Amino acid sequence: MLANYGYTDGSGDYFLTIDTDQCDGCARCITACGENVLEMAKDDYGKLVAKVRDQVAPKLSYVCLGIERGCSRREKSCQTECELNAITLTW
Ligand code: SF4
Ligand code: SF4
Repeated sequence: MLANYGYTDGSGDYFLTIDTDQCDGCARCITACGENVLEMAKDDYGKLVAKVRDQVAPKLSYVCLGIERGCSRREKSCQTECELNAITLTW
C-alpha cells in the first residue's frame, strides 16, 4: 500500500509517500532524519512500518526539508538510507 502524507498548497505539492509493502521496518530512515519527521508504527495489518508523525503531517513542508531543498546536501537522508527505495518525495 502507498501511504501518502502531505498536501498541495499555493506553492506546490508536498507529499512524502511510503510504500508499506516494500518497507521492512528497519527504521534506518528514522535514525537518518534530523528533523524528527518519521516514526515507526503498525499499519492496518499489524506490520511495523515507517510513517510521518501525526503532528508533522499537517505542516510537512515546513518541518521536512525535502530532498531538493536540503536533504540532498546531507550525507544521509531517509531516501539514501532506505535500501528498499520505499520512500519518495515530491519536492
Ligand atoms: S528505511 Fe525504508 S525499509 Fe527501513 S523503515 Fe524506513 S522506509 Fe522502511
Ligand atoms: S527528506 Fe530529510 S527532513 Fe524529510 S523526512 Fe527525509 S530525512 Fe527527514
